[in-house]
Amino acid sequence: MNPDIRYSIVIPVYNEEAVIGQTYRRLKQVMDLTGEAYELIFVNDGSSDHSTEMIKCFREQDNAVKLISFSRNFGHQIAITAGMDYALGAAVVVIDADLQDPPELILDMIAKWKEGFDVVYAKRTKRNGETFFKKQTARLFYRILSASTDLDIPTDTGDFRLLDRRVCEELKRLPEKNRYVRGLVSWIGFRQTAVEYVRDERLAGETKYPLKKMIKLSLDGITSFSFKPIKMATYVGSVIFASGLGYLAVLLLLKGFTESVITGWNLVMAMQLVLSGILLAMMGIIGEYIGRIYDEARDRPLYIVSECHGMMKKNRNVKKVV
Ligand code: UDP
Ligand code: MG
Repeated sequence: MNPDIRYSIVIPVYNEEAVIGQTYRRLKQVMDLTGEAYELIFVNDGSSDHSTEMIKCFREQDNAVKLISFSRNFGHQIAITAGMDYALGAAVVVIDADLQDPPELILDMIAKWKEGFDVVYAKRTKRNGETFFKKQTARLFYRILSASTDLDIPTDTGDFRLLDRRVCEELKRLPEKNRYVRGLVSWIGFRQTAVEYVRDERLAGETKYPLKKMIKLSLDGITSFSFKPIKMATYVGSVIFASGLGYLAVLLLLKGFTESVITGWNLVMAMQLVLSGILLAMMGIIGEYIGRIYDEARDRPLYIVSECHGMMKKNRNVKKVV
């Protein structure tokens, strides 16, 4: 660890040319107030706009600015992981590039950290300027996640948070590929606390989290921390099996002891549809897990770095226990 650097700010960037100048200036203003050494690590997640050139421009005037560029878009969770892998500070802060997370809050986080907390996460009391759909789906997801896992993952928090160096080091030891970083941080433990804030509107540009990416993140969150969905197959299967047996028994009794004629192929058809629907859904859930096991088995690196400015190019320091 470089003793000179106290704070590392990790900023994932994916096509953020519209805001990145402002973000840089506000972060710099805030971090200068600390009076301590810091680095601003921009992780360029395969942007195809001018974000990279702009970051290089900041770097020409400011040595605190560092840049890691990926060879393509690897996704937000991987970008913040890379930033943490390279960070040198005694405390590492992850913040979005679009100023939805107010940089000024970092000072409150640092104050809490100095009180002795290892993780200080930012809890959104209100989300401004986001669509009704986004707010409701996010709400629903956090509720499902907390219902399906025993782990205490705080609701309504994003990845905007401060981590102590020792939490960062532990995070590096977790090699999983489909990462849900905030869940991993909860899993690691240590002393955690929250600071509250109102989440602002994105300053400019559009969200880089379309529905598809949101669904992927939600599935990663749930499958990484819960076996409940897969267990559900057993419960639902047993209930259906029992009712099927009961149904059959009733039919046999009717046939044996009454005059009724058993017809109704459409009833059979309906049962068939219900059953095959449930089976397919359950297979899908199992598939979600198997896909992730496959990802782990292939053991590809999490990301590929194409260029690095202000730091040494290195591989992720993960030791596999064999
Ligand atoms: N981001 C990224 N890679 C991606 C998608 C997003 O690095 O594939 C970054 C993005 O530049 C921003 C942060 O992750 O700094 C959060 O994304 P965004 O603000 O678009 O998500 P939202 O706030 O709409 O959920
Ligand atoms: Mg945003």
